[in-house]
Amino acid sequence: MSALAIFGVRMRPVLLVSLLFVLTACVPRTKPDALALRISAVRDCVAAAPAPANYPIPACSYQPSAETFLPKNGTMGAVWLQQAIESDATIQSVYQGAAAQLEAALKDPSQALALSEQTKVGATGKGKPAAIIVDIDETILDNDAFNARGLRNRLTTFNEAYFECWGDEKKAKAYPAAREFLTAAAKRGVTVFFVTNRREDQRAPVVQTLIAEGFPVLDGGANVIFRGFGAGEKDGSKEKGPRRMCVAQQFRVAMLFGDNLGDFVDGVDVSPQQRVDLVKTEQGDTQWGRRWFMLPNPAYGSWVSALAKFRNDDQDPTKFDRERNIETWVDDQLDAPPAEPKTDGSFESKH
Ligand SMILES: [Mg+2]
Repeated sequence: MSALAIFGVRMRPVLLVSLLFVLTACVPRTKPDALALRISAVRDCVAAAPAPANYPIPACSYQPSAETFLPKNGTMGAVWLQQAIESDATIQSVYQGAAAQLEAALKDPSQALALSEQTKVGATGKGKPAAIIVDIDETILDNDAFNARGLRNRLTTFNEAYFECWGDEKKAKAYPAAREFLTAAAKRGVTVFFVTNRREDQRAPVVQTLIAEGFPVLDGGANVIFRGFGAGEKDGSKEKGPRRMCVAQQFRVAMLFGDNLGDFVDGVDVSPQQRVDLVKTEQGDTQWGRRWFMLPNPAYGSWVSALAKFRNDDQDPTKFDRERNIETWVDDQLDAPPAEPKTDGSFESKH
């Protein structure tokens, strides 16, 4: 046996132990999972205050009836806007989020970032000063009292003449967060354009209201743009795309604000599914919260028209019946048939 072989045999136990040591060191040690420990601690904390033995599990005894199927005429939405702190918080969240995005939006001078694909064509932002486009009603101005007045007077749908009477009263109030954001942006050198679908004959009370509420209105209301007039449109077009394009020819549009899809893209007076597709086509999914900022409006808007004009089960827009059509869109998205009520009229609780 050679000296090398004898050395190998004698050293074998040492080599094996060394190999075992190295392998052991390589095996990842099972560290206590810090996240799991924290989650477990949360569960322990919650369990420390257990429900009493007689904790009531309510039986679902609601009896659906045609009378209570839906609150009619937008009551809940209007009341939410007027009374709920959740409404104020949402509006504040939108404008504070926008403030956090403003510098990034202003730093890129290469293109009109906020424009939809429809209006971006040919628009370059290079060398142009920055602008922000905002809608007015329910975007920066609060008309809750008008909505409430309509409900109290049993107005079933929006009435433009009635709204113009309200406009003449100049009682709409600023959303404070909107005023704060737009004032700061204007001080930063951004030109604010107020693009509204109110009619031109409302100019005086609208401009006066905006000034009274502290918005950065230029002399004579030059940056307040009313309903546009195209060929054959006696009453003015509600499509805002051409007006956005006019701004984009002179300015780099950094942000858009609205409470209606039409404040961002044109062609929104279509079915709910077509509206979803339109946002995708216009790349809205990448714009929300970055360049496009949507304010909440559960009281009225083109979303209501889309639901009212089309039925969920029949896309024929000729069958217009506002309340009935809207009810077809109330969809619980459950495949299973509803639970049968028990003999006493209650339902089995799922808790
Ligand atoms: Mg609006």
